[in-house]
Amino acid sequence: MKNPQVLIIYTGGTIGMINDPETGALKPFDFESLYASIPELKQFDYKIDTFSLGEPIDSSDMNPKLWGDIATTIFDNYANYDGFVVLHGTDTMAFTTAALSFMLQGLKKPVIFTGSQLPIGQIRTDGKENLITAIELAGMSDSSGKPNIQEVALYFEFQLYRGNRVSKVSTFNFEAFKSYNYPLLAQAGTNIKVHHNSLYRSQKEEVKLFTDFNANIALVKLFPGMPIGPIKSMFDASKVEGVILETFGNGNSFSSVEFEKMISDYMESGGIVMNITQCTQGNVVLGLYETSIHFKRLEVISGRDISTEAAVAKMMYALGLTHDQNERIQLLTENICGEVTI
Ligand code: ASP
Repeated sequence: MKNPQVLIIYTGGTIGMINDPETGALKPFDFESLYASIPELKQFDYKIDTFSLGEPIDSSDMNPKLWGDIATTIFDNYANYDGFVVLHGTDTMAFTTAALSFMLQGLKKPVIFTGSQLPIGQIRTDGKENLITAIELAGMSDSSGKPNIQEVALYFEFQLYRGNRVSKVSTFNFEAFKSYNYPLLAQAGTNIKVHHNSLYRSQKEEVKLFTDFNANIALVKLFPGMPIGPIKSMFDASKVEGVILETFGNGNSFSSVEFEKMISDYMESGGIVMNITQCTQGNVVLGLYETSIHFKRLEVISGRDISTEAAVAKMMYALGLTHDQNERIQLLTENICGEVTI
């Protein structure tokens, strides 16, 4: 078998940051310097190529256009590599991995995102292990030569997560990510244990690229005592095409005629509403409590156990794919690429 070929795409993030001597703040530096800081990479018997996606950025500056650029880079190079590693800031990495899972459906090769909590130049950095194992995962195949991982995944602190099932949960711990509603894809110890039953396998014959996301959406997190007036402008279908409601527990909200009427008017004028839970674990069950029956009555879409990051990506994907309200609802109700348990 020939040596695996892996493409590393560098977007920025702490992994490649240094202290600005003037301001003391962390700022991104170029990939060549990052690569030079990890001499261990030369020991790989993989062929590793690198590509910088423009100026490195803090991931807070990520957006759907840049998600599309990452997806397009992978798509354009798909035939030439066995796997891809994307270096990305941790802050919004879970949004990007979710978005890429919708942009690149039908993957038969691994796309492994990673980053770090400490810059690679620092002595206690977590970046080296994260990068080295991410590369190993991107080149890994089973005994028949097929890639073990055939989806967008996020590797961090010895664990591999499904890209559209993961969230950043800590600014402090090296274990910065968690996937509460879906098991790990793999775990790295003295060797890498792949959890075969958790892996995604697309039914699509080949990889398809779709980058035309529609970001004309709103994310509304409810809180007890929330006044309705200030959020009314978000329920204007001529301006906002889809609203994700982050509700309490199993999908509950305060009982308010004004709130219910606002949602119903919005949906009647073409708006899409998806109900997801604020809880990090568990799912929406509309009608379980009296305080969610109004959502059921209005036929608001249940996000079930989807994460906020995946809900945002899925909404942008569905609104980008079609203008038809029924088709949008249908897409948001389905499991498209392993992002929700049906
Ligand atoms: N602010 C950084 C970023 O998301 C944090 C990190 O990479 O850990 O780009």
